[in-house]
Amino acid sequence: MINIVFLGPPGSGKGTQAVELAKNLGIPTISTGETLRKEVENGSEIGLLAKSYMNSGGLVPDEVVVGIIKNRIVQKDCANGFILDGFPRNMNQAFVLDSMMQSLNKKIDIVFNFEVSEDVLIKRISGRFSCKRCGSVYNRYFKQPKLDNVCDNCQSHQFESRADDNESTVKNRLLVYRNSTAELIGYYEKKNLLCSIDAVKSVPLVLGDLNFAVQKIYSKQ
Ligand SMILES: [Zn+2]
Repeated sequence: MINIVFLGPPGSGKGTQAVELAKNLGIPTISTGETLRKEVENGSEIGLLAKSYMNSGGLVPDEVVVGIIKNRIVQKDCANGFILDGFPRNMNQAFVLDSMMQSLNKKIDIVFNFEVSEDVLIKRISGRFSCKRCGSVYNRYFKQPKLDNVCDNCQSHQFESRADDNESTVKNRLLVYRNSTAELIGYYEKKNLLCSIDAVKSVPLVLGDLNFAVQKIYSKQ
């Protein structure tokens, strides 16, 4: 049994890693956005409550989001653990999550903090562009097409990038992220749960580091 939290800024690659690690460990990844959407679709009591907040244009309170996570982690496929991807994002969410876990006699075993320098994150996000025809993703700094302005996959010459991926909006997104998570990182550090991951490394190397840390926890159980 291993319950994992993934923390990391946009562009840190944690979403990809969550999927890969979950596959290795045979446990599900839980994204709050997706879980919330499903509860709303199913029309469950808590889903309807969440929907009433969304309809009035407000944020869904942390207690409601954590209630939805609770419903998710008592399901059978979480018997051996789960990966919470991108939650909590602030101290209040961490507190509410902790008390919910306690009420189930469960605990968070490890918090992976994906660390990437600001410079690399900005290049990863603002350099992103994709083929308009087939959707293949490239990066101006890290992964250019083999032939200039020709898609490797479908030979199209037409590319596009997202308007909100420009350098100044990316910088702002990162600032918001750092402001809300700085305290959170300290909190998990004090609890001895924090494991820093050098997320500049390649996908297989990062996955290797994650697996190594997980095996250490398994060996203590
Ligand atoms: Zn293409």
